[in-house]
Amino acid sequence: MNVIGSRTPSEVSPPRIQRLARLPVFYALEGKRAVVAGGSAGAAWKAELLSAAGAAVEVFAGEPGEEMHAVAAGAAHGPVVLHHRDWCEADIRGAAIAVGAFDDEADASAFALAARANGVPVNVVDRPAFCDFAFGSIVNRSPLVIGISTDGAAPVFGQAIRAKLEALIPTGFSRWAAAAKSWRGRVKDSGLTFAGRRRFWQLFTARAVVDPSGIPDESIFDALLGETESENARLEAGSVTLVGAGPGDPELLTLRAVRALQTADVILIDDLVSPQVLDFARREAKRMMVGKAGYGPSCRQEEISSMMVTLAKAGKRVVRLKGGDPMIFGRAGEETAACEEAGISVEVVPGITAAQGAAARLGISLTHRDVARRLQYVTGHGRNGRLPTDIDWHAIADPAATTALYMPVHTFAEFAERAITAGLPASTPAIAVAQATRPDEKMIAGTIGEMSKLLAERPAPGPVIVLLGKVLADRVQALRRDAEAGVISAKSGLARAQSAGS
Ligand code: SAH
Repeated sequence: MNVIGSRTPSEVSPPRIQRLARLPVFYALEGKRAVVAGGSAGAAWKAELLSAAGAAVEVFAGEPGEEMHAVAAGAAHGPVVLHHRDWCEADIRGAAIAVGAFDDEADASAFALAARANGVPVNVVDRPAFCDFAFGSIVNRSPLVIGISTDGAAPVFGQAIRAKLEALIPTGFSRWAAAAKSWRGRVKDSGLTFAGRRRFWQLFTARAVVDPSGIPDESIFDALLGETESENARLEAGSVTLVGAGPGDPELLTLRAVRALQTADVILIDDLVSPQVLDFARREAKRMMVGKAGYGPSCRQEEISSMMVTLAKAGKRVVRLKGGDPMIFGRAGEETAACEEAGISVEVVPGITAAQGAAARLGISLTHRDVARRLQYVTGHGRNGRLPTDIDWHAIADPAATTALYMPVHTFAEFAERAITAGLPASTPAIAVAQATRPDEKMIAGTIGEMSKLLAERPAPGPVIVLLGKVLADRVQALRRDAEAGVISAKSGLARAQSAGS
């Protein structure tokens, strides 16, 4: 690796949250005073809701309807007291929440003003201008509660989503959530460490998901605790997982990569990793950029390896996230050796390498029974940043091979010249793919004889891989036709080939 300047690992923050139309908060009302003004069916439903949430509900209604009488007669949870008169400001004072239902705009306004003047959050049924908050749709698996809001845009849409969630979330989750609530303190006092407690809750959740209708009784608590304790020794030791992030498109992550990202304490990230992949990481995980970007300033390999070891020794679950597959041109050997030397367990999660990503986007098979019996991965970047001196030119010139040239850009002219000298026809089809599988993917098609010039004419930002071999012939022709016709996206929808001079 040619180190020009140097960088120190730097921490990056998780992505910022996107604009939020409403802040979902879950208001604790148990034992608090709630005021309901109005006696309509709408007011009755709100009184029932507030009572279900444990509030002491006081209803003020000159002429309460049938529904309101029914709610007062059989309160859901908190008491409901019905006052047969209209509200006045003194009623609202000191309440935790105020809800009104009025036919008349002036009545609604007066109620909202009085509540706001007394610092009481207010909602007036069907009058958004007088509402500090909205109720939304509810999926009730108490103590597990899901609230759905469309910011008033389409309540029907919210209800449809609610129906879907109702079908999706087993009613038994209510029991599991209640068990979690009652076990929380015991888990805290169990002597487990922070990581151990987290593991307990992971096992608990896995159990609830596979057996939602099961009864989470004492025997389950003991089993989960026992399982956590037996795993604990290993947990405390910390670990390192080398994870392949694939070429860029997050959908190309393996399930295991996603799991590793979701349980990591610290993630050491290469520059090549696309930011979208990090959306799958645990928000609380510490993220460190330890980029090695070929020719730019880099973090030193020894520094990265030693950081990995130090963190794992401190009990952290370290994920070393690398572009593509970690075992292909990723210096994984040095990192696994450093861990093994320090007695730290290392797991490897393979990823889709750039060549596979590019081939999939091109829609070509890298091997072919007639024209490509062999597939070879070669790097154009030697230790000193030049073309490696020990390339097997005889193998490169093999007319029945497909070659994937990694890190090709700076040394391509020399590579092509030597390959042609070794006997590879200058007419051999070649395609450079930049940012394969990413939104700004770019393809440049030609022959190996032309590719150096094409790359210079149309420099492609981001990582580039060059594929060479007869299997590419049809695709090169198609990409060229599209480019001549000025088509930016290939007709097949596979490639975003850019026309010459773009
Ligand atoms: N471990 C990686 C390779 C790391 S070497 C893998 O398996 O893909 C870095 C080189 O990989 C880059 O210089 C480039 O040649 C290639 N590469 C990585 N991601 C790429 C992408 N999305 N598009 C094109 N080339 C890519």
